[in-house]
Amino acid sequence: MSANQLLIGLFVVAIFTSCNIREPKVITVNGEIPSGAMGKTLHHEHLLVDFIGADSTGYHRWNRDSVVEKVLPYLIEIKEMGYKTLIECTPAYLGRDPELLKILSKKSGIQLITNTGYYSAVNAKFLPEHAFTETASQLAERWIDEARNGIEETGVYPGFIKIAVERGPLEEINRKVVEAACMAHKETGLTIMSHTGLAEPAFEQIKILEEYGIHPSAFIWTHAHNEKDIDKHFEAAALGSWIAFDNFNPDRTERFVDFAQQMKKHGFLKNMLFSHDAGWYKPGEPGGGSFRGFTDIENILIPALRDAGLSQQDVHQLFVTNPAKAFQVSKRLQ
Ligand SMILES: [Zn+2]
Repeated sequence: MSANQLLIGLFVVAIFTSCNIREPKVITVNGEIPSGAMGKTLHHEHLLVDFIGADSTGYHRWNRDSVVEKVLPYLIEIKEMGYKTLIECTPAYLGRDPELLKILSKKSGIQLITNTGYYSAVNAKFLPEHAFTETASQLAERWIDEARNGIEETGVYPGFIKIAVERGPLEEINRKVVEAACMAHKETGLTIMSHTGLAEPAFEQIKILEEYGIHPSAFIWTHAHNEKDIDKHFEAAALGSWIAFDNFNPDRTERFVDFAQQMKKHGFLKNMLFSHDAGWYKPGEPGGGSFRGFTDIENILIPALRDAGLSQQDVHQLFVTNPAKAFQVSKRLQ
């Protein structure tokens, strides 16, 4: 090999390496994939939720085979509609089960993403004891450990940070969880999805992110449809935050369509996320109780969006481009 050939070879290797470094990734229960491989995505759903409380929940509460038997058809159903990824938003102490998700992903062919973090809403019923005594940085250490070493011994890594707060002003325990999420984001680059609802706690959290030097694009304002003042949505979107209308059901078609039209008009389609917040195999109920499938968006909302004048490209933005960007692993610092 001549010196020239060697140089060209090195140059090619360098280009490949730099492309790889720059290619954004997301983390599924089966490992990293390029964010561009997420495809059509439902960004906020649940396969199993256990409401019994942090002091009593655990893997003994459900039988994985029974859950798989019940839930698998619902995943196959959306696979056949062209969906490739479902983001499973059940946090630890509320029924998160990485082993179950691995099995369901493998059997269905749907890419699943799980999370780290704690849910401090509902009077802290879903917080483990140590969340009350440890500092924000100790909690962050636990979540960073999951991001670095996997969740328990499962070999599954979290793809985002899921937290939950009560309505504002934030109580101390809520603020601690938000600060822990900020610290974990700065170490891991995982996006912070926060069960929030109204504007007041949303802006309080965005302010905390900013205090930690984190750009609002690392924050998903979850259940933003509970806030009726659309100016607040515009305001948060203008800062760069993600605005999630994530609890679609057919009764809400008009509201979701109107929201999409308004956001588009103001140039904020790029900040929006839609999902059902559906599913929910419920341990403790006979047969897991009633399970809500994930097809209303495809069957009802998307046709309604198209009828209202949104283009195919807009729909692609909402269900492909935006989730891929929202969940890509990157430290978003100010
Ligand atoms: Zn949810």
